[in-house]
Amino acid sequence: VPELPEVETIRRRLAERIVGKTIQSVEIHREKSFQGNGLLITNQTIQAVSRRAKILQLRFSDNLLLLVHLKMTGQLILLQADGNRVGGGHPTADWVENLPAKHTRVTIQFTDGDRLFFNDQRVFGWLKVADATQAAAEFAQYGPDINDPSFTANEFVKKLSKTRVPTKLAILNSALVAGIGNIYACDALNLAQISPFKPANTLTETEAVRLFSACQTVIQRGIELQGTTFDGKYVDVAGFAGGYQNEALAYGRAGQPCKNCGELIKKTQQAGRGTYFCPHCQH
Ligand SMILES: [Zn+2]
Repeated sequence: VPELPEVETIRRRLAERIVGKTIQSVEIHREKSFQGNGLLITNQTIQAVSRRAKILQLRFSDNLLLLVHLKMTGQLILLQADGNRVGGGHPTADWVENLPAKHTRVTIQFTDGDRLFFNDQRVFGWLKVADATQAAAEFAQYGPDINDPSFTANEFVKKLSKTRVPTKLAILNSALVAGIGNIYACDALNLAQISPFKPANTLTETEAVRLFSACQTVIQRGIELQGTTFDGKYVDVAGFAGGYQNEALAYGRAGQPCKNCGELIKKTQQAGRGTYFCPHCQH
């Protein structure tokens, strides 16, 4: 599942290359994957590529946006006229196979010959043409982004103090704070040396502040390493793969020593998802 660092990585890769490009056509291969009127963005020029939570925003004039949510299995691939390709998202053979591929749901053709492909095996992801009001409605469900510079430790501490759910589930709740997915939640809790099971409202203020800082640290590290690519078949695909998997603190490391204390990392389940933790320093 692409998390914030993976989506931010795609944003940066695309922003370098597609700002200033004009859309010639939008070809929708699967109706479910595209909402709104594609003609509204046809002949429009991309002015910026931004991100809020895990949603990418291609910005056009008059506050018109194309929102992109990769959900579980989405990918974006820019195929340049010279054959070069960049992108990211869920790692599959479509990163390297001919495009459009079997799972291509939308193709955006630019006037200069470049093409942007939205591939999505499981078809939970979407592209949505939105005006400012529609975009605001989309984002109303999200708490502040964990790496938003205006989001303070004090606000984070207050939010955690109001929920009794296990701390890991609290920080995974995007209505409380956006952008912390399973990989980075496990690692932030390990870095902060806090039990994922401890009810959020029982953390001391010191612990909650430490967790806030740890969340920002692991997310920032994920962005620096251009995200996480766990599927071994695709870890070397240039222009796509990330490197955070090589530095993960707890996630995916069951049976390996905790980088803080040496005790073996354990794996269990919380709300149907894998929780990796150190039974010693996250007691
Ligand atoms: Zn430990």
